[in-house]
Amino acid sequence: MWFGHKSPPVASVALLSSTVQCQAPDHKASKQAVKTRVRFLLLIKHNSTDQSSSPIAVFIGVFVLAAEEHKSTWIQTWAQQTPSRNAILDETRRWKFPIPFILTDSLELNAKGVILQAFEEYRLRSCVDFKPYEGESTYISFTKLSGCWSYVGDDKKGQNVSIGERCDNKAIVEHELLHALGFYHEQSRADRDDYVKIWWDQIEEGKEHNFNKYEDDFITDLNTPYDYESIMHYRPLSFNKNESIPTITATIPFFNDVIGQRLDFSAVDITRLNRMYDCANTHTLLDQCSFELNNICGMIQNEDDNADWVQMLSSPADTDHTLSGRCRDSGYFMKFDTSSGVVGSSALLESRILYPKRHEQCLNFFYKMTGAAGDKLVIWVRTDDGTGTVHNVKKIHTITGDGDKAWKIAHVTLKVSEKFRYFFQGIRGSSNSSGAILIDDITLTETICPSAVWQIHNFTSLLATTPNGTPLTSECFYNPEGYSFGISVYPNGRDDAYSDYVGMTMHLCSGENDAVMEWPAMNRQVTIVALDQDPDVKLRMSSTRSFTTATSGATWDDSCQCHRGTDFGWSTFISHQHLRRRSFLKNDDLIITADFNDLTHLIKTEVPVIPTNGNNDITDGKPMNMVKLRQDVPKHREARSANPCHPNPCFNGGVCVEGKGKATCRCVFTMYYTGKRCDQMNLNRGIVGALVGGAAGTVVLTLAILTVIKRAQSNTF
Ligand SMILES: [Zn+2]
Repeated sequence: MWFGHKSPPVASVALLSSTVQCQAPDHKASKQAVKTRVRFLLLIKHNSTDQSSSPIAVFIGVFVLAAEEHKSTWIQTWAQQTPSRNAILDETRRWKFPIPFILTDSLELNAKGVILQAFEEYRLRSCVDFKPYEGESTYISFTKLSGCWSYVGDDKKGQNVSIGERCDNKAIVEHELLHALGFYHEQSRADRDDYVKIWWDQIEEGKEHNFNKYEDDFITDLNTPYDYESIMHYRPLSFNKNESIPTITATIPFFNDVIGQRLDFSAVDITRLNRMYDCANTHTLLDQCSFELNNICGMIQNEDDNADWVQMLSSPADTDHTLSGRCRDSGYFMKFDTSSGVVGSSALLESRILYPKRHEQCLNFFYKMTGAAGDKLVIWVRTDDGTGTVHNVKKIHTITGDGDKAWKIAHVTLKVSEKFRYFFQGIRGSSNSSGAILIDDITLTETICPSAVWQIHNFTSLLATTPNGTPLTSECFYNPEGYSFGISVYPNGRDDAYSDYVGMTMHLCSGENDAVMEWPAMNRQVTIVALDQDPDVKLRMSSTRSFTTATSGATWDDSCQCHRGTDFGWSTFISHQHLRRRSFLKNDDLIITADFNDLTHLIKTEVPVIPTNGNNDITDGKPMNMVKLRQDVPKHREARSANPCHPNPCFNGGVCVEGKGKATCRCVFTMYYTGKRCDQMNLNRGIVGALVGGAAGTVVLTLAILTVIKRAQSNTF
């Protein structure tokens, strides 16, 4: 039993038009958007006994908005008592960074994981930062209470943010944290009546306060326009008393399908946040370039090579990636011509010197290889040689052309802790090469690259030809622990009810590490992202969903004489209508990334609140403490109980697994070690044969492997 569903997925309802739009507006899309119909999700769980008809039991559809309500009494009381103060204008209600936080153990494990994801989005797009609580007088305690809610601004004495039932969604956490940082709902603005209509008679009784408007002597818009796309805007059906009758509608009907989006921050959300907190930089964005400007972001041509990269304008023959060739006189990329010169001739394009704060980075870029198979694109880093000169080189990754001439995405992990440059080397691979190597839209972040990246070409034609209920299945990927997993995409939904949605599910594959891995694979968080391919990573509004594995959900299947876990995901991951907005289908490619991460270390995170006299705050005035703490943050070292696996008690490279406070060792399969601590050499190869047999082929989310291992163990030991 290993694969349960801990948290119902929440579907979002809207996205926005592309930020790069040079073509005429799509009138058809606009007309569709005029309709006020908004689909929400209902949670339906397939009967666990009814799995034989399909290997996939999906939490289908859909469910309503997570009940988001604020502590209105508090807001009102505070407003009445201190009318001249404002969460935004009053600087005493602003936070100092990093903000101390507590993840109480009332939270779902999935909620703890998505809260940490939300922190990372703040660090990527702003100067907001968070650190584990260590006795400070002010902090945020994330707690599972009734619904999703937050106070507005820093209360200076420690405050709750509630991540209640069905609130464990990254975008909802981002929304609640914007409240905590000092923001009200978008429809609370003083000028909101110019942009939306509130249908007071349709609001559930007693919930009217959620539609309060605050005058401009109380809140400020930070000189930004009304933003229908804000993550702080309500959805049309929020707090309605009649199903499908809205409580709030947009003056410009197009935006009825936009308000209430819960994908990610809008561009204006980020502008406001950075204005309020005077952010000059973000924490994790190191470099970004779409090559639109003549300075090519400070990149340089190395003079020791025998060819050059050239900044090129998009043309029908070679379209750029940033604008997909849609714009005249803009849309640049870098090109290395492989049609001439000797075989092996190369060109180097080198970044400026960069200063990392963490120890791991993800270099993300798009490339296209139009020459003969065999041309190479190599990624290198050059680091400090110990004298302060960035000189030592290290090859990181090589991409070899395979004849496929489409734009492709690459994620390359760098592990650099000192100042460095990264650079691209293009190499002409054969004498009959007649094309070029193109690169565009580079992003370098101090974040961890996703374990799985799946780029599906020609998605529009797949939408036209793939029957409802039919999945496309990815190759199998590995997570950092060694588990193998894959993704299934249903272009036209998994069943008739949601044929206008793309469904997505995750399954485990059998892999080469199965004998070593812990089964059941509990307390892992699955995160799937449909990537918004906006060239500016700060403006991406990707669709992200997460759930965690638990102990329930698998049943005995007579047909295979094995336990079979159910496949989980969302049959309403993203609607066709929304998929065509923004940059989800740039160049007609859908790009999906996924992770399968161990959250075991987050099971116990709660720490007691220490009574404070206000002197143990960690603020800007104590830089040493901040430095020490920031180093901890990237590793997500949350407070945790003593771990019996530290230090590792296993011998011979055995992997230690903690369960119920006890350590057990998974012995290295290929070296035939056995015993409680992997301290005996096992010469009985029978177990190996059984395991290899059990692991052969791709098994879609099944516990057959577990059964085989258990059987083998009981026979052998
Ligand atoms: Zn809210």
